[in-house]
Amino acid sequence: MAKIKKKIKTIKVDLDKCNGCRACEVICSAFHADPKYSSNNPARSRIRMIRDPIRDVYVPVYAGEYTAAECMGRDRYVIDGKEYDECGFCRASCPSRDAFKEPDSGLPLKCDMCEGEEQPLCVKWCINDALVYEEREEEVEEEAKPGDVELGLESLVNKYGLDKIMDVVARMSVSKNG
Ligand code: SF4
Ligand code: SF4
Repeated sequence: MAKIKKKIKTIKVDLDKCNGCRACEVICSAFHADPKYSSNNPARSRIRMIRDPIRDVYVPVYAGEYTAAECMGRDRYVIDGKEYDECGFCRASCPSRDAFKEPDSGLPLKCDMCEGEEQPLCVKWCINDALVYEEREEEVEEEAKPGDVELGLESLVNKYGLDKIMDVVARMSVSKNG
């Protein structure tokens, strides 16, 4: 399969520099408000501040993939003698917690790296430089384009006939829903 270059975007988090000010949550939720900048509710932010001031724990975590089921095993990290909560670094929108869910609809939230902006706004607003944006290029295998899928479908229809394909799809959807 052909290789293509893909841009990988990363936000590097320096826990020692974060003081839990929550400016990142404010700007993220404002940027994604509808209309843009019309509100700034941190519950709608795609970056969440996991904080426990008594233990001096401040962990900014930005939202990753949605997962339908919570995982069976949990990691617990101890870094420089400081113990962090289970799931403390996890980026998943998962059933075990409220983070990374749109508060009204419950739909999962995911960081989109502030699509359309020159750099992520949480990085720009973090005056402590706890968040640092990095970009790099990696060679990856080319994904199937929609055109390839259409061609694949066309050849299946040519080979088996449209009725047969529709019948299989109908049976698949019955077994999935039932
Ligand atoms: S803006 Fe920076 S210092 Fe403030 S909570 Fe977010 S990551 Fe931490
Ligand atoms: S990069 Fe943008 S979308 Fe992602 S957490 Fe930061 S402000 Fe939110």
